[in-house]
Amino acid sequence: MSSLFPALVSGSTARRPALRFGDRSLTYAELAASAGELAARLDGRERVAVWATPSLETAVGVVAALLAGVPAVPLNPKSGEGELGHILGDSAPSLVLVEPGVELPSPVSDVERLDVQVGVAGQDAQASPGAAARPGTEPDDPTAPALIVYTSGTTGPPKGAVIPRRAIASTLDALADAWQWTGDDVLVHGLPLFHVHGLILGILGPLRRGAAVRHLGRFSTEGVTRELGAGATMLFGVPTMYHRLAEALVEDTELAKALGAARLLVSGSAALPVHDHERITAATGRRVVERYGMTETLMNTSVRVDGEPRPGTVGVPLPGVDVRLVEEDGTTIASYDADGTPTGTPDGETVGEIQVRGPNLFTEYLNRPDATTAAFTEDGWFRTGDMAVVDPDGSVRIVGRKATDLIKSGGYKIGAGEIENALLELPAVREAAVTGEPDEDLGERIVAWIVPTDPEDPPGAEELADHVARRLAPHKRPRAVRFLTSLPRNDMGKILKRALPDAVTKAPEHD
Ligand code: ATP
Ligand code: MG
Repeated sequence: MSSLFPALVSGSTARRPALRFGDRSLTYAELAASAGELAARLDGRERVAVWATPSLETAVGVVAALLAGVPAVPLNPKSGEGELGHILGDSAPSLVLVEPGVELPSPVSDVERLDVQVGVAGQDAQASPGAAARPGTEPDDPTAPALIVYTSGTTGPPKGAVIPRRAIASTLDALADAWQWTGDDVLVHGLPLFHVHGLILGILGPLRRGAAVRHLGRFSTEGVTRELGAGATMLFGVPTMYHRLAEALVEDTELAKALGAARLLVSGSAALPVHDHERITAATGRRVVERYGMTETLMNTSVRVDGEPRPGTVGVPLPGVDVRLVEEDGTTIASYDADGTPTGTPDGETVGEIQVRGPNLFTEYLNRPDATTAAFTEDGWFRTGDMAVVDPDGSVRIVGRKATDLIKSGGYKIGAGEIENALLELPAVREAAVTGEPDEDLGERIVAWIVPTDPEDPPGAEELADHVARRLAPHKRPRAVRFLTSLPRNDMGKILKRALPDAVTKAPEHD
């Protein structure tokens, strides 16, 4: 297999910008020099961790590990001691790569530490790009483990997904194809670097194309306006960021102009509420391209950049990725031809599990052969645990996770997302989550968890329930409404539904 980063050794990209974090930046030649030097120092290591602050050092550390063929485990600097202990105990890295000056908490401080140096050798590289562009010898084996990324822990303790080199290459090439990336693209990046979205798509993606990344450090609507206004072409974000953009757009015409000028706005990691999507399109004339993926599979589907706008769908399989929808009894509802044409009986109504096969898949959960075996069907399809319908045109519409978002009530299978979208249409609702709870009569009953826009004047429970019943169907009416001051979310902004009962305020419950 050839290099993951052809732009690092190409003379033509040497002087082009690669990465910028705040006021510090690296050209491709400088990145090649820094990462190449570090890669040589990783020789012989079996596995390294990377303390993934949003910094040049994290990007250089990960690229160096990939060049050296040493599997890297990105660590979330915001994780608590318990989670870090779990990940270190599981993955047992012999070294942790760190931004100089950063203090490591226990138990990461017990691991041997190597401060990542960037830019020193880069000075020479600037003078003589060809000489510095020797980033080391990458392994040839496409199945060799490249990264071990822990899942977000939304549904249980994070699992270490072993991601081979081929999965990274294939997913990034499929996205480049679908999203028409070129070396001239400049990405505005405001995501953390310890997950697939921020690290593989947001850093390794542009680097594989010879494109540039400008990282905001912390996401802000001002930063987005500034960077897109200064000529950046793409924004990748999670729904909580697009929500903030949608809110800011009400008054901020500069932001509207900047977003309107972007080539590509992409959302992923969780469902983008239809209401936020529509507000962004109304204010900017641009739509958001939703894509769907996960740690174990990298990217599976994306909305077509040149197709019809379809708020609420995550599009069609990416090139090279096999996707099918399977009912509980094993019947295949829909699959796709090699050219992406839907086959079977996709009716936009029958709910099934999304299953995925292709070069984008992980190889195993680290130290969890049981979980790995359970995650695959006998013929090698990965069971995502995500439930969806497929529209007749082939667009996948995610209903939610089997474990937390599919409510079986009164003989119906009801997706939480659709009810959440309906609730979010109401100005009095700032945030909404919907779950199912055991119910003697119904099997499960629908519960709505609401963050009111004005905590002093929350909407009435009846009013909310009536709106859902009218907008969707009577059997989708929430039977209980609970008010909170905020929804529990993880660092990617994903709602932690299992933590909802602990987060509820003393506000009265309305059954
Ligand atoms: P864990 O597996 O530890 O419970 P997690 O599933 O949240 O956590 P990730 O691998 O980061 O960990 O997230 C993948 C999941 O995110 C998908 O399985 C899906 O449920 C959800 N997801 C990703 N993109 C989208 C999207 N565009 N729309 C809806 N859901 C999405
Ligand atoms: Mg998961």
